[in-house]
Amino acid sequence: MLTLKEYLQQAAEEKKAIGHFNISNWEGIKALTEVCQESGAPIIMGVSQGEAGFIGISEIAEIVADIRRNKNIPLFLNADHFKDMDKVELAAKAGFDSILFDAATDNLMDNIGKTRRAGELIKSINKEILTEGELGYIGVGSEVRENVPAGAVITEEQMITVEQAREFTEKTGVNMIGPAVGNIHGIVKGYTEKLNFKRIKQLREGVNAYLVLHGASGIDDKSLKKAVASGMSVVHVNTELRLAWKNALEKYMQDNPSVVAPYKILEPAVEELKKVIKHKLEVFGWVNESNS
Ligand SMILES: [Zn+2]
Repeated sequence: MLTLKEYLQQAAEEKKAIGHFNISNWEGIKALTEVCQESGAPIIMGVSQGEAGFIGISEIAEIVADIRRNKNIPLFLNADHFKDMDKVELAAKAGFDSILFDAATDNLMDNIGKTRRAGELIKSINKEILTEGELGYIGVGSEVRENVPAGAVITEEQMITVEQAREFTEKTGVNMIGPAVGNIHGIVKGYTEKLNFKRIKQLREGVNAYLVLHGASGIDDKSLKKAVASGMSVVHVNTELRLAWKNALEKYMQDNPSVVAPYKILEPAVEELKKVIKHKLEVFGWVNESNS
């Protein structure tokens, strides 16, 4: 099996993107494992600091290691938007495949300083762990929003330039960057995220790091395909999964008020999660939906 770094290289060469899907419970783990097994596509399981706080940093690392060992599937684990150094250290020691240290709310110089220190800490624990930095504020949290978050980057003038991204990448040594290119975390009701494909292409060509698209929930398939073709090598999806999980759970409990077995109540949620994940993998170039 290839390493995450090798899969990233393959994705970049073949103009595909690796899907990054957040989980915080067993239904998410089960859905990602089954889709990974059924499709053979590499998948990154993401846990934010909040999600990791619920499921446990060492616990999720052990579970993914166990799945990979026993099923021999390309399922990887990312610490998503970690902000505290002690949590970064725990994730690195627990064996995460990649860690995103997020200081995007700071100014560029402070962001560079903090991200570099996080990267040094991570690589001192295990130099095989890939590091990611976040550039430009796009809101925090995977939720359905009424409005664009205050201070989020939306105009071309505010978006991350090649020069900024190059300086950031060279000074921090990160393997991946998540630049603000018109994307917003979560789903904003009544607002269409306009991705700047020209900027994505410029960043891909001008910066020595893989590009990660955050906040892909709510972005239409055509735009996502174009973002991948323009050079995004990883795409993050969370809010759409949360919605699929919650809707499936609510529907099953309404339809079956007498059922109390958790594994029966939760099974439809797993199936709905799998549908979203499979569809995204098709959009990102890994599976042909008509064959799966
Ligand atoms: Zn994100």
